[in-house]
Amino acid sequence: MESTVSQKLDAIFNLQAIDSKLDAILKVRGALPEEVQDLEDEIAGYETRLEKFQAEINTYEDEIKAFKEAIKDSEKLIKKYQEQQMNVRNNREYDAITKELELQDLEIQVAKKKITETSLKIDQKKIDLDALKLTLDDRQKDLDQKKNELDTIISESESEEAKLNADRTKALKKVEERIAKSYEKIRENAKNGLAVVLVKRGACGGCFNTVPPQRQADIREKKKLIVCEHCGRILAGVEEEVVEEPAPKRKRATKAKAKPKAKS
Ligand SMILES: [Zn+2]
Repeated sequence: MESTVSQKLDAIFNLQAIDSKLDAILKVRGALPEEVQDLEDEIAGYETRLEKFQAEINTYEDEIKAFKEAIKDSEKLIKKYQEQQMNVRNNREYDAITKELELQDLEIQVAKKKITETSLKIDQKKIDLDALKLTLDDRQKDLDQKKNELDTIISESESEEAKLNADRTKALKKVEERIAKSYEKIRENAKNGLAVVLVKRGACGGCFNTVPPQRQADIREKKKLIVCEHCGRILAGVEEEVVEEPAPKRKRATKAKAKPKAKS
């Protein structure tokens, strides 16, 4: 049985209504997974930096250990030189050992200074590390919240989405294949996902360009499929404007305001 243009328009308009609802669901969900992903990336970045800070602290601590070892070595040498100095045979030997002793003493001083400097570096790194941990905790809380939100939205819309998809399958069966194809094509190119619109206030409901009065009349008749000449969307009908009651004219108002007769 061949359906009338009016029926065809109703069928495609119905399909559009369902698709718009599905679009709305996906739009809400569409933003959150991205936000969750961004936060996960950000957190991964902080964790990498945290590991780097910890590794730097470990390196500094190893350096301090090495300086302490060097001090011990120098102290051993000093002890050895002091013993040697007791048994020198001449002034020249004595002076040579004195120089060695001075050198080791200097080594110890340098190592101690380095230990102090490195300890300060560790302290600063630990402050940075603590600040980073706070930021990380903060972001982790944001992430948990967003994840919960997303889970809730998904669970809330899951059944609605399933119902809409079932409705869509039924609605699509009522649309001619040829029309369905062009419908999909228009939808792909339309930013707002609208392929079927009404004429509203004399303009296309999709691109808002004016639809000439004669064309509007043709659309009302529903004798053939008419598309917007600007955007190519299917114009399924004309939304009738709610015309407000015109304000009463002055003349009539005056007339209505007949002077009540004064009571005698
Ligand atoms: Zn248009």
